[in-house]
Amino acid sequence: MPNIKEMGSSPSLFFLNLGLAITPGRIFLSDRMIMKDKLVKIEEAAMQAVAEVVSEVELQQVKARFLGRKGEVTAIMKGMGQLSSEERPIIGALSNEVKDRLESAFSERQESLRQAFMKERLVTEQLDVTLPGRSQRQGYKHPITQVTEEVVEIFTALGFGVAEGPEVEKDFYNFEALNIPKDHPARDMQDTFYISEEVVLRTHTSPVQIRTMLEQPPPVRVIAPGTVYRRDSDITHSPMFHQVEGFLVDRKVTFGDLKGILTTFITEFFGQNIDVRFRPSFFPFTEPSAEVDIQCVICGGSGCRVCKQSGWLEILGSGMIDPEVFKSVDYDYELYSGFAFGMGIERIAMLKYGVNDLRLFFENDMRFLKQF
Ligand SMILES: [Zn+2]
Repeated sequence: MPNIKEMGSSPSLFFLNLGLAITPGRIFLSDRMIMKDKLVKIEEAAMQAVAEVVSEVELQQVKARFLGRKGEVTAIMKGMGQLSSEERPIIGALSNEVKDRLESAFSERQESLRQAFMKERLVTEQLDVTLPGRSQRQGYKHPITQVTEEVVEIFTALGFGVAEGPEVEKDFYNFEALNIPKDHPARDMQDTFYISEEVVLRTHTSPVQIRTMLEQPPPVRVIAPGTVYRRDSDITHSPMFHQVEGFLVDRKVTFGDLKGILTTFITEFFGQNIDVRFRPSFFPFTEPSAEVDIQCVICGGSGCRVCKQSGWLEILGSGMIDPEVFKSVDYDYELYSGFAFGMGIERIAMLKYGVNDLRLFFENDMRFLKQF
């Protein structure tokens, strides 16, 4: 069977091929001509529409338009009743061929659309397994926690254990047992938050020293990090801050041991080349007492605003535990001696990292905290 398009482009040849005479049924011939011509045009239009569709949905619409129950090819086939019994099979066969060709064109197009769709999916939904994973944002330890842990680490390496105590403390542990009776002038040094007459927010970590000594006999070697409270607030004071208390009690403990342990800690924490000085001072619970200064970490000792031109920075208080303290915990003060020290975590953190305002530690500004 010749191609319909070919036939359409050269009708005279087509008629010859079909063996049709020019006469006698002119009207009849014309009806058949019209139907045939229609079929040619329908097939052309259908083929073009099929080529132009970009989706399966569109393709289904085109298919319905030509081959559906009310489709154009279907209409031709229904109209064959007008034809003579001789012509009907010819147009019928032609219609069937058109219909077959269209159907295979539809299914070919459908297949190619499907493949194109799958190909596109393969590209758009491609999974690049070589891409680096999206890492979770990691949190940071607060600088105060970091410094506390570092201090604890240094002292545990020196054989100290870690003890903790309550932040809401009895007056007895916070003051009295530490040789600070109710009328003692040293109470004026600390602005205390009172819960009641006998209960306070601890003003230092020293009560842990009392609690520990009441619980266990010497020798003891303990540090006690924790939160403490005082009614104080400026660039170097916060109403809540942190301390590390440390103490060691044994036979024949001397001030030399105190100096050795604290110097070791300071050089571990601030660096080997830092100068340390012990300066006489007073604390009710130690005798003798010493403040410990380090060479100014800002100016290196030449004098600046931070060290008030002295070249030195005070970092902790210390001393030999007063026999009066041993009495209140039932330690034999003639057999045992010991030293104690306490320091502000914020203070040493400020000096270590060059932070100039203590309140920054508690404002929780991520831009600040991320630097540690
Ligand atoms: Zn300085």
